Amino acid sequence: MQTGKIGVTTENIFPIIKKFLYSDQEIFLRELVSNAVDATQKLKTLAKLGSYTGDMSNATVQISVNKEAKTITISDQGIGMTAEEIEKYINQIAFSGAEEFLDKYKDNVDAIIGHFGLGFYSSFMVAQKVEIITKSYQDGAQAVKWECDGSPDYSITEITKDAVGTDIVLHIAEDSEEYLDENKIETLLSKYCKFLPIPIVFGKIKEWKNGAYHDTGKDKIINNPTPAWTKKPVDLTDEDYAKFYRELYPMAEEPLFNIHLNVDYPFNLTGILYFPKIRNNFEVQKNKIQLYCNQVFVTDSVEGIVPDYLTLLHGVLDSPDIPLNVSRSYLQSDQNVKKISNHITKKVADRLYDIFKSNREDFEKKWDDLKLFITYGMLSDEKFYERSEKFALLKNTDSKYFTFEEYKTLIKDIQTDKNGTLVYLYTTDPQAQYSYIQKAKNKGYDVLVLDGHLDAHLIGQLEQKFEKTHFARVDSDIIEKIILKEDLEQSHLSANDLQDLSVLFETENQSAQFSVQCEKLSSAEMPIVVTQSEFMRRMKDMAAMNPGMSFYSQLPDSYNLIVNTAHPIIEKINDDKNAALYEKLQDLTSKITAAQEEKTALDKQNEGKKDEEIPSADKEKTTDLQKTISGLENEKRTALKDYAKSQAVVKQLIDLALISNNMLKGEDLEKFVHRSVELIK
Ligand code: ADP
Repeated sequence: MQTGKIGVTTENIFPIIKKFLYSDQEIFLRELVSNAVDATQKLKTLAKLGSYTGDMSNATVQISVNKEAKTITISDQGIGMTAEEIEKYINQIAFSGAEEFLDKYKDNVDAIIGHFGLGFYSSFMVAQKVEIITKSYQDGAQAVKWECDGSPDYSITEITKDAVGTDIVLHIAEDSEEYLDENKIETLLSKYCKFLPIPIVFGKIKEWKNGAYHDTGKDKIINNPTPAWTKKPVDLTDEDYAKFYRELYPMAEEPLFNIHLNVDYPFNLTGILYFPKIRNNFEVQKNKIQLYCNQVFVTDSVEGIVPDYLTLLHGVLDSPDIPLNVSRSYLQSDQNVKKISNHITKKVADRLYDIFKSNREDFEKKWDDLKLFITYGMLSDEKFYERSEKFALLKNTDSKYFTFEEYKTLIKDIQTDKNGTLVYLYTTDPQAQYSYIQKAKNKGYDVLVLDGHLDAHLIGQLEQKFEKTHFARVDSDIIEKIILKEDLEQSHLSANDLQDLSVLFETENQSAQFSVQCEKLSSAEMPIVVTQSEFMRRMKDMAAMNPGMSFYSQLPDSYNLIVNTAHPIIEKINDDKNAALYEKLQDLTSKITAAQEEKTALDKQNEGKKDEEIPSADKEKTTDLQKTISGLENEKRTALKDYAKSQAVVKQLIDLALISNNMLKGEDLEKFVHRSVELIK
């Protein structure tokens, strides 16, 4: 028997390993199983080359748990090791300046493992003693057993072992006994080893017979050694891709389509990405992309490794260039990983463009499910925007789809206003905004449906990208003003009448603010129309999604109540008002005018004077006049408001406008119904 010290300069490396790796303890199994797989593959290669004559066709890696002995054993039929090789590969964790290094990376354990091949030593995270029982494939090799109890001291003994290969026996430490639970091991194996390239055996297949499970004696293989992404696309059918998707995510809905990645220059990358159906719901994202390194599972939290919007995709990525054992922050700054991520962006865009070109009909059918993904990509990645411009679609209210270019051509001639701005009309809810859509259509305009989660942001982006372009929701104003072709005709009513009407139609509402405007619309138009200004509404929409903008989200909704002065009912209301209040209003108006004139004259007289130079009598007079004016104006308002209250038709018209926007609720709605009955009587 030979004994010795493991070649690290640090007195005892194991407590460090144990301490630092505590958070990710479970990876010991991944490390040991992938070593076993590597050893098996190496011998398979040698067998293929004729340097080894043993039969490797059924080689497997076997994992077993012995609860009594408190051991986990990982056995392979791979190349094995000679005593010299153990000395070289296991004993000499040879690196210079170990202490310095450990010091530098003590917060980054993954880096320690990755850089210095501590893969095997991760077994000491869970074991208090580890044995390597191994026999090299080389002719006449002497089998040996290496043993180490976690101190730097080890021993090597010559033993007899018939089969070529290695058994790693872990004597599980007291604080890690959870790993002696077979279910736990099975979970770990299916997490990390599901697609390893050599069959992994764990226990026997059990059969349900006579009310109990029985071992069948057949090995239970827990992995699929040849997953779809390792095959050539030409050898796979649509059904194969669908099947593999189910293998990855047994509970998921069918994906829309897939992208098979197969790159070998300037880096190695294979994988299959699937487009899931993404409606307005980011939740579906729970089926995460899985990252592999030579079929060894690395992680399924790819945030920061691939751009955010790509994390909406499902599937697997496999690259030997993705360093297996490094931390997330390291991965994010790794140049290879960046290149991979750019490449995926390009591939995804190319694939979308291909489908668009080769089968536009199919692409349009899938658009509603793809849209959120593409919009997200366009908003977050300039490169992706540029690529998507060719195939991103806009949908109109007739469910017709257009590329950006096609749509521009469609509306350019009719929807350009008198200032040369091209106006894109859109609806966020074709049902609720039905009447406005109809008005736009009656003018020969086209209306887009932009009801998506991210469309408020997309609109902002498109306004920046397109030249002289403005997006306006169909109900943001009267259509004549949204696309202003020529200045609107002035109302035939007098300025006083217009002012009075504005007061008559003032309305109070708890949840919203209304400002009244008088416009001469066509007489066929409704007497009252409610619109909502584009700017404020958009700010509020954005604020709803963006916590930083809470100021806007707290503002009440603000609407415009447009009084159509050309409508016969409004004309009649105006006439009736004049008949009832003419003298009173006339009297108040002339008094107001007189007081205003007097005040203006006084102001003029004292213009340019400093405050102390103005006679105090004048100051008092000005204040008095101001009071008189406000008093008279109030009186006028009160007279008009009282009159409005006596006219059921005024309230009725307002309510009709609100009800056609689905805005009349609760008590107001109840009152409207009662008033309607009264009016019909
Ligand atoms: P890495 O696998 O990153 O090289 P490890 O510490 O896991 O680092 O292993 C060190 C070396 O020990 C391996 O490169 C390999 O040569 C040898 N080794 C480990 N496990 C086995 C095994 N099961 N069979 C044969 N050789 C092995």
